Amino acid sequence: MVAAVEKGAPAWAPDPVRSLAPETLGPGAAAVKVVIVGGGIGGLATAAAFHRQGWDIEVLERAAEFTEAGAGLTIQPNGLRALDLLGIGDVRRIGRIADPPSGIRAENGNWLIRNDVEALKHRFGQWVTVHRADLIDLLLTAIPAETLRPGAEARQVHPDGTVVHTAGTTSGDLVIGADGLHSSTRRTLWPTAPQPRYAGYTTWRFLAADRAVTASVETWGRGARFGQVPMPGGRVYCYAMANAPAGSRAGAADLRERFRRWHDPIPALLETIVDETVLQHDTYELPDLPRFVAGRVALLGDAAHAMTPNLGQGACQALEDAATLVEKVTALGIGAGLAAYDRARRARTRMVVRRSRQAGAPAHWTNPILAGLRDAALPRIPGAVFGRSITPAYTWPN
Ligand SMILES: Cc1cc2nc3c(=O)[nH]c(=O)nc-3n(C[C@H](O)[C@H](O)[C@H](O)COP(=O)(O)OP(=O)(O)OC[C@H]3O[C@@H](n4cnc5c(N)ncnc54)[C@H](O)[C@@H]3O)c2cc1C
Repeated sequence: MVAAVEKGAPAWAPDPVRSLAPETLGPGAAAVKVVIVGGGIGGLATAAAFHRQGWDIEVLERAAEFTEAGAGLTIQPNGLRALDLLGIGDVRRIGRIADPPSGIRAENGNWLIRNDVEALKHRFGQWVTVHRADLIDLLLTAIPAETLRPGAEARQVHPDGTVVHTAGTTSGDLVIGADGLHSSTRRTLWPTAPQPRYAGYTTWRFLAADRAVTASVETWGRGARFGQVPMPGGRVYCYAMANAPAGSRAGAADLRERFRRWHDPIPALLETIVDETVLQHDTYELPDLPRFVAGRVALLGDAAHAMTPNLGQGACQALEDAATLVEKVTALGIGAGLAAYDRARRARTRMVVRRSRQAGAPAHWTNPILAGLRDAALPRIPGAVFGRSITPAYTWPN
């Protein structure tokens, strides 16, 4: 099934779609089955959308249940448009319709960048903050329970659509590898592809309660930053990031100590947490893949293009992937649809991965001279320049 590797592609890149006859499964074909590996935001959104098109679906999830650990998520204007296109539930009902981020402050509270919130809203539309578990629940309401297979971990995914997993073997006319950063789908189809790259900083997330926090803001220090995002119900989704070797761990007491001199209400927000409520993950980015597609299999979301969280775009891009994939495959059939998905998504996600990496880098400078120059220069940058740097991420579909 797998044809020769394309000229110019790395030796480890299997050939994708050419081996599939485009007419194999055209629009309107009956009883087409899609197997989705991974029941995160990307996988469930894709499953719900294919089900809505009348396709058979089966969702394999390695965890014992379909949910996400307790932290917030910002769905930006492009992510909201993708959800609207997918037509699988209105996240505005379960989330908080929020203002765009108000800007970036220094440790002492001085503004480094102050966004023109009204202009951003006018230009790009709505932002919504939501609890991740609530978003997963919303997506699950659009998927028949009998198609969900918790506790099924994919071990091998083959280009012909066969998936070997811990509960047996299943096969689909189309397989979606939405199994996240350390994707087994990617590993089995691209066994020698570069591994995810550690960004040099670790991230903590937690929810606090503080009705006085009404605007999203990020604060930058030297090699560390802190973000606060108002959520539905007076809760605040907080995240902190700090330079650290991969694998190092720190808890609530360390966070309180690290940020104790930062501006209000950061120390107060940290007072409310205990170790059990803090999630810590190291921050990774996936080096570019030469393709998102091999045979009947497409990678989607973090499995295809995991990025640093600096622009808050990872889930939004997974939703864009889902909307594009479902649109292309239902319109063109599987062979041509996958090729069109691959073309449409690789360049765009590559750009967002790069911008996200660049957007976060200055927060992690530790050299006092560099950090001082940063703090002196940023307030002088006109808002329009910042607007230009984020426009491409929010602007979708074009
Ligand atoms: C600190 C932080 C903050 C973020 N903030 C935002 C934000 O505000 N906005 C935003 O848009 N994005 C944000 N992101 C990014 C976002 O969380 C991810 O991009 C998004 O969750 C990716 O979804 P996914 O479905 O592709 O992958 P995942 O969420 O990783 O889901 C993968 C699923 O596959 C399952 N799985 C894994 N392996 C297998 C297997 N072999 N077989 C079966 N199942 C398997 C996993 O259990 C999981 O359920 C943030 C990320 C971080 C780290």
